Amino acid sequence: MVDVAIVGGGLAGCSAAVQLAVAGHDVLLLEKKTYPVHKLCGEFLSPEVKGALQRLEVLRDVEEAGAHPMHRTRITASNGTAFDAPLPGTAIGFSRYRLDPMLFARAAACGADVRDGTMVRSVEGSLDEGFTLITRTETFQARVVLGAYGKRGVLDRTLDREAMQQHRPYVGFKAHFRGADLEDVIELHAFDGGYCGMSHVEDGLVNACWITHEDTLKAADRSPEGMIAQTFQTNPHLRARFEKLERVSDSFCAVSQVSVQPKTTFEGDVCMIGDTAGMIAPMCGDGMAMALRSAELVAPHVDTFLRGACTAEAFRSGYTADWHAEFGTRMRVGRWAHHAYIRPWVAKAGLAVCQALPFLARWVIRNTRG
Ligand SMILES: Cc1cc2nc3c(=O)[nH]c(=O)nc-3n(C[C@H](O)[C@H](O)[C@H](O)COP(=O)(O)OP(=O)(O)OC[C@H]3O[C@@H](n4cnc5c(N)ncnc54)[C@H](O)[C@@H]3O)c2cc1C
Repeated sequence: MVDVAIVGGGLAGCSAAVQLAVAGHDVLLLEKKTYPVHKLCGEFLSPEVKGALQRLEVLRDVEEAGAHPMHRTRITASNGTAFDAPLPGTAIGFSRYRLDPMLFARAAACGADVRDGTMVRSVEGSLDEGFTLITRTETFQARVVLGAYGKRGVLDRTLDREAMQQHRPYVGFKAHFRGADLEDVIELHAFDGGYCGMSHVEDGLVNACWITHEDTLKAADRSPEGMIAQTFQTNPHLRARFEKLERVSDSFCAVSQVSVQPKTTFEGDVCMIGDTAGMIAPMCGDGMAMALRSAELVAPHVDTFLRGACTAEAFRSGYTADWHAEFGTRMRVGRWAHHAYIRPWVAKAGLAVCQALPFLARWVIRNTRG
């Protein structure tokens, strides 16, 4: 019986593992993929992410590995309207291919038992009686289970999560490119049915990441290349960029059913962190910061519960209240911004208003981050 089993070794899972291992608990961290691996993400690490990486003592390694600094954002609409704004601090571009293994290694160095290539198939039990986790080859027992398995996973089905039953029509995909200099700017370009974020990561590469309605992809025979070519007709900035870019990734990294709808912080007694508790709209560029922050929020509650200083009910209600106080507003503003930006005429009108009233854009930026 370990103290805490964490399902998912992404940002939230690794951060929680570090903090609980440092607090002296037996931590088991289970990750289904074998690192290193490319992950779907805009790979834009906001100033808030840098703060969390500093606290985890990995920021220096990330910077020494060539993370690309960014100070400005450029947002365009499909008619070519553009809005430029300074970022509220220095952000960095860094690939998940490099970042996640660094965090996984940090969790191991802090004393967690980390296992990649290990997918959890089911979790049963309660905070009062303990949990059983089943993988393909092994069974584990734990006093607390943290669900850190990301946007959507097999456990949503086995735990029968109501919020995850509905079909979500958004698809995400990304690849690395070479050939353009984006300087220190994170760019966000809207097109009919979706948007594309692009910025530099390490080694001079450009990460481009799309989120689009599945109908837009279907209209291009489900081919990302076909869909990208179609977006050139609706956004001149995208066309200008892709005239110079050459794909270096062998293939696109893709995921379907991307959802920004509200979820729950507990399913039964399994406690959710990161995207598993709720994912902010990708255009906000705050998902990684929230994943890392949610681990910081949950760790003291888990620690208090494991030391026998609070009841299961106090753990559930305490973490849930903290989560909503920290993330409630930015989730709502993020959903609203996503739905507005994905509608071409709203995006055009919204950017025109932002050009005239820049304080409005600053308000949105401020209210979608910590
Ligand atoms: C298109 C798109 C673009 C984005 N761009 C950005 C951006 O530029 N900046 C930003 O800050 N955020 C961005 N985000 C959001 C960001 O990627 C997430 O919020 C962040 O990765 C959440 O971290 P996490 O640890 O909760 O989940 P993840 O990073 O997804 O980690 C979950 C881990 O759990 C593992 N796992 C899943 N199921 C199991 C299982 N059954 N057993 C064991 N392991 C399991 C997975 O393999 C994965 O490694 C974007 C999201 C999307 C969809």
